[in-house]
Amino acid sequence: TNNELRCIGCGAVIQTDNPKEAGYTPKSAYEKGVKTNQLYCQRCFRLRHYSQIEPVNISDDQFLKLLNQIQDTNALIVYVVDIFNFNGSIIPGIQRFVGKNPFLLVGNKADLIPRSINRSKIKDWLRQRSNEIGIKPLGIQLISAKTNQYVDQLFKTIDQLRGHRDVYIVGVTNVGKSTLMNQLIRQNTGIRELITTSRFPGTTLDQIKIDLNDGHQLVDTPGIVHHSEMAHYLNGKDLKIATPQKPIKPREYQLNSGQTLFLGGLARFDYVNGHFKKGFTIYVNNDLLIHRTKLANADDVYKRQFGKLLTPPSEEYQDSFPKLVRYEFKTSYKSDLVFEGLGWITVPSNVVIAGWAPKGMDVLIRRSMI
Ligand code: GDP
Repeated sequence: TNNELRCIGCGAVIQTDNPKEAGYTPKSAYEKGVKTNQLYCQRCFRLRHYSQIEPVNISDDQFLKLLNQIQDTNALIVYVVDIFNFNGSIIPGIQRFVGKNPFLLVGNKADLIPRSINRSKIKDWLRQRSNEIGIKPLGIQLISAKTNQYVDQLFKTIDQLRGHRDVYIVGVTNVGKSTLMNQLIRQNTGIRELITTSRFPGTTLDQIKIDLNDGHQLVDTPGIVHHSEMAHYLNGKDLKIATPQKPIKPREYQLNSGQTLFLGGLARFDYVNGHFKKGFTIYVNNDLLIHRTKLANADDVYKRQFGKLLTPPSEEYQDSFPKLVRYEFKTSYKSDLVFEGLGWITVPSNVVIAGWAPKGMDVLIRRSMI
């Protein structure tokens, strides 16, 4: 049966049902492979032939099992986070899984940082957030996997810190781990030797390993499925407008209390209460429409304009798009109101504000990044 067959590249159990999951092989390739007894899953096949790694999702259970194994090995852990979605990048229990191993925190998507902002400020900010969640990285590096900025430097740092140890790259899905692995693969290896046939006994996990020069390996750990993502309720076109692709240009609004800003039809911000006119700075994709209105009219405007003026999403999602849920906060210092995955609004101290987001998207407040 299907259950007995494993990919000779990564050891994942071969399956022909779900392309997004470990061990996927198209039916035709599967039938050919069974005859020759040489079966690569699609991910390993593409890696061998096109030097292209594909992201793979595994279940939370599998992911935890894998992290538990890492805890017991002597390795350098490279933990990749999306600097624009730090909370969404946190692996639950990461403190424990890191164990005694040294680890490096990598903040990816640095290409989106507004040009006006000093990178060392972002690093400080990441260090503070790490302290808050109880992890102590040996180092913090900002990179852009997509534009290949500072990836070289990262690889050098990894080589210095690992001593003679294996390296595990971990991160939740969507932080850009596959993009990073692709850069590392292109730069640092001959593709032939790339996939090793060694496996972790007793696991069915699809891991890609790159041989390092001293017999140790760099191991890509498939990502945990992250549950509250815009990708679940936006189509490709809308997702493109919602997700920053280029450096964010901060947009500044002077608001009186009782005013509302809509972020397309995706989210809403109310300045509920506060003295005087105040400055609010919005960090979302440059193409996303920001529409200002009176708080008193906002419900009505949303009802009438959803999918028309207030887009994305487009009108066809009127019925299926989740209702906006309201979260109210009072600030005591300069803060960011974060719409997870979408961006954030920097708000001054001593104001009452509300963020509205579709059910499933988290809204939270944090000390301001910038
Ligand atoms: P994985 O699930 O962690 O393997 O993430 P992927 O490598 O598949 O990337 C998820 C999304 O983030 C894709 O749309 C990538 O194009 C994008 N992405 C990855 N790295 C970067 C980066 O450095 N900058 C930007 N702007 N986007 C990135």
